[in-house]
Amino acid sequence: MTRAPFENPDVRLDNRPLSEYTTFRLGASCRGIIHCRMPAQVEETIRSLVKEKKKFILIGGGSNLVVSDEPLDCYVVRYYTDKPLIALNGTDVTVSGSTLLDDLAIFAARNGLEGIEYATGIPGTVGGAVVGNAGAWGKQIADVLTSGELISPSGVKKTAGAEKLGFAYRDSLLKKTGDMVVSVELSLQKGEQRALLQERERILAERKAKHPDLRREPCAGSFFRNIEPTSKAGKRQAAGWFLEEAGGKTLKVGGAVIYPKHANIIVKSGGCRSQDVYELSLQMARIVKEKFNLDLVREVRFVGKFRGMPADVRDIIW
Ligand SMILES: Cc1cc2nc3c(=O)[nH]c(=O)nc-3n(C[C@H](O)[C@H](O)[C@H](O)COP(=O)(O)OP(=O)(O)OC[C@H]3O[C@@H](n4cnc5c(N)ncnc54)[C@H](O)[C@@H]3O)c2cc1C
Repeated sequence: MTRAPFENPDVRLDNRPLSEYTTFRLGASCRGIIHCRMPAQVEETIRSLVKEKKKFILIGGGSNLVVSDEPLDCYVVRYYTDKPLIALNGTDVTVSGSTLLDDLAIFAARNGLEGIEYATGIPGTVGGAVVGNAGAWGKQIADVLTSGELISPSGVKKTAGAEKLGFAYRDSLLKKTGDMVVSVELSLQKGEQRALLQERERILAERKAKHPDLRREPCAGSFFRNIEPTSKAGKRQAAGWFLEEAGGKTLKVGGAVIYPKHANIIVKSGGCRSQDVYELSLQMARIVKEKFNLDLVREVRFVGKFRGMPADVRDIIW
């Protein structure tokens, strides 16, 4: 028999605001946050929420979200663990969707496994990385993922090969199906531990120099995706460049400001509300459209209701 999530002693429930669980430090409360660490916990929780017809959304590290100032009329399943759940079989790795991507990168480097170094320092969970095909420097999780254990929004568990996940740049089919990532299998390659650990240090230093320090400058990373290649070089063009050229660095709405070192990052300053971030993002898209006739595509997801947003949007929209 399936227990209600609140009766499961391994699953913690709390009523704190979502600002405590997002890197933007924004977001009101919801009906309850259900904390799950292990694959079996998240499966059981989702099945019982479905059975009881309780509305819910699932989040990971909350590093790609802007959650509304208005309370959410649903439960939030937070599938997250700071104790990595990783199994190694030769050069293949099975990892829970709740494990932090950076913990996976550390594990791989320490075990002399190559193929996931680029993920060093990217906040958030493996599940969040899979759904958004997280990446850096031309590499992404889709390059090494072979299959995933998923659970559908109606509680049905399934296994899907990578070819079924519709990976594209910062995109996957999971954004459309709403299937949730319980765990994934990755195929890595033998590398040299010392070189991999050195590469890790190099990447961390580079990130530190370029990205906001989340403790002082809360944000959700790059707000818009880079632009489709238009030249034969085939390289994506940084959305930040277009924003900067269009004068984006001077924009500001309430406490939402542009990070001085990167025109594609919104950071939270004093008194910032989620609505400010929403409005600033509209202004950013507008100036690039006006100057370059380009439509920026958002990478960050909005959760909940925002003033001026069409009324029929779902709880999470891309
Ligand atoms: C400082 C900073 C730097 C960043 N740098 C990068 C970068 O270099 N490259 C990059 O790609 N991203 C980057 N990001 C963005 C972000 O870290 C990634 O997109 C990350 O993969 C999101 O994972 P998350 O667990 O935090 O997802 P969340 O923000 O919690 O959720 C994002 C979406 O994923 C869904 N989701 C979460 N977990 C699951 C799951 N298990 N199954 C199904 N859906 C799930 C949620 O429903 C939501 O729709 C950065 C963010 C910050 C704040």
